[in-house]
Amino acid sequence: MVALRAGEYGIFEAMKKQPILFLIFLFFLLTSTAASADNPLRPEILPKTAKQGEVCLIRVAGQKNLKTLEGEFQRIKIPMGLNPVGKTYEGLLAVDLDTKPARYQVEVRGADQGGKSLSGASSLEVKKVSFKTQTLSLPSSMVDLDPKTLERVNGETKRVEALFQRARKDRLWKGRFLRPVQGEISTPFGLRRVINRQNKSPHSGIDLRADEGTPILASNSGAVVLVDDFFFSGKSVILDHGQGIYSMYFHLSEILAREGEKISKGDVLGQVGSTGRSTGPHLHWGVRIQGAKVDPFSLIRVTEAMPE
Ligand SMILES: [Zn+2]
Repeated sequence: MVALRAGEYGIFEAMKKQPILFLIFLFFLLTSTAASADNPLRPEILPKTAKQGEVCLIRVAGQKNLKTLEGEFQRIKIPMGLNPVGKTYEGLLAVDLDTKPARYQVEVRGADQGGKSLSGASSLEVKKVSFKTQTLSLPSSMVDLDPKTLERVNGETKRVEALFQRARKDRLWKGRFLRPVQGEISTPFGLRRVINRQNKSPHSGIDLRADEGTPILASNSGAVVLVDDFFFSGKSVILDHGQGIYSMYFHLSEILAREGEKISKGDVLGQVGSTGRSTGPHLHWGVRIQGAKVDPFSLIRVTEAMPE
């Protein structure tokens, strides 16, 4: 009944009977609409579309003093922090190599200093990449593993995967990521491989050809979280840059970093070699962000203009 009466008491009726009250009501209606339109966070994603295996920048402008803020893409949390130069909140959104091409929702959630919740959403289109296929013949001992070697490989894989589960929250990286060695790409990112007629997992890094002994530079500052000699990746170094970002350096001839130490961007980690399953001297350089396998060159591109 109340609703009916309110309906009968139309807007023109209100304008005629209480013009001042109506104007005040109208003013509050307009300003509150404007305020609520300002309130939700408006994440911007750059670039607006991403290819499988690419990294994007997620940015929230118009806020300078948030207590907390994080993004979410495919149920994976994205740490975000204030860029002191641009005065915007930024984070890295990583699209795994195996993400299905589609349009995805990207959300941001946070709170202001008073504890009030703020949120917003945007979308990201993920485009398909036609990764090439390479057919290789390798000695059977490097492909058909005996039970003991298989057990070793599984243990090594588990150890690396476990590292990604305990990413340090603090940010050790700063500014753009470096290419660890010059030299041309001998195997691109995402290449599908058929070895001795068996389908293998796609190439999750980039192979850079370089002479044996070439110094390998840390792509950014971080902590050395793994130094070992693995069956497939040979002498290996993994850096944790904080905020879920890792870089990996495989097939080294010599390792010059120590597990547990902190290193700075550009420090020499070791030398190029051909240890593990490798057909010649090269550096396999890989990047993981929140567990996603991404093209390391994409990380260089997206961080290029960041303040040092
Ligand atoms: Zn490789």
